[in-house]
Amino acid sequence: MRDFNLNKLVRTTILNLQAYSSARDEFSDFESDLIFLDANENPFQTEVNRYPDPQQRDVKSVLAAQKGVSTQHILLGNGSDEVLDLIFRVFCEPSIDNVITLPPTYGMYKVLADINGIENREVLLTEGFELNTSEILKTQDSLSKLLFICAPNNPTGSMFSQHDIEMLLNKFNGLVVIDEAYIDFSECDSWLTRLEEFPNLIITQTFSKAYGMAGIRLGICYASVEIIAVLNKIKPPYNVNELTQQSAFERLIQLDVVEKELSLILNEKERLLKALLQVYFVSKIHPSQANFLLVEVDDANLRYQQLITKGIVVRNRSSQPLCKNTLRITIGTEDENNQLIENLKSLT
Ligand SMILES: *Cc1c(COP(=O)(O)O)cnc(C)c1O
Repeated sequence: MRDFNLNKLVRTTILNLQAYSSARDEFSDFESDLIFLDANENPFQTEVNRYPDPQQRDVKSVLAAQKGVSTQHILLGNGSDEVLDLIFRVFCEPSIDNVITLPPTYGMYKVLADINGIENREVLLTEGFELNTSEILKTQDSLSKLLFICAPNNPTGSMFSQHDIEMLLNKFNGLVVIDEAYIDFSECDSWLTRLEEFPNLIITQTFSKAYGMAGIRLGICYASVEIIAVLNKIKPPYNVNELTQQSAFERLIQLDVVEKELSLILNEKERLLKALLQVYFVSKIHPSQANFLLVEVDDANLRYQQLITKGIVVRNRSSQPLCKNTLRITIGTEDENNQLIENLKSLT
């Protein structure tokens, strides 16, 4: 790896910032018999009368053990969306820096760039949904701070060549954010095992997909100790609430349930794939490493509307580049998928 100096990528404002230290940063050991009169809380027990642990230590320690990383490599946020926003605000100077995104991909990267006043340079995937590495490297300049790679990619469901990603990790000037929201559905390995090798690697994951907890809003960021430290500096002190921490913890210690659901979803994906191929207006189904299928049809707007009238909502991705006449269909339960198939077959 070439010379890497994280401080050159951090905004000056953030480097010089004196972080807020909350009451619970200083003392948060509720197991002890300390008397807490420091945070102006109501002392009467309601299960949530105390501020939550700002460092979410219980959740992080289970995650760390399961993923084989130390807790210092983990930051948790109010969904991946907050994690991604923190990354923008630490590294990108408004009206000066730029980021690179790779459409068709997750729309949030561009929205966050727009919100933060950061130029978003788009480099399309190739026709085969691979990374256009030479174009990405031509597009970067000394102010390119972040490159977003969604792997497996939403909405295509595709995985990128490991060799290409590695090349970008070696040659991109800024930080490479690999969004692994769908990694648990994939046969490919997470980049988590490569964290020590690449000081410019940030990996995001989420409780919203395979873990079945979109409602609690919990996103995960894995990166070097230095990157995590600087993100911690600006995160709101109590960004992950007590109820979220409790339910995430309970889910993590029952990972066998998650794994059972995962294997049901993957079985259903194979079944749905075969059934969709029998539908006369389906022309192509893109190979998917995620829990959805990107399906090419004769007329996506028409099929989308027809499905709505049958009470089934899918995502019309036709407006995305390289995704003409496509519907993105999430894998449901066996019963939901059966209804989808029946209804699709009845359409004329
Ligand atoms: C669904 C999804 C997420 C999850 O975002 P949360 O804010 O954690 O719910 C992140 N990235 C991608 C690509 C997604 O599709």
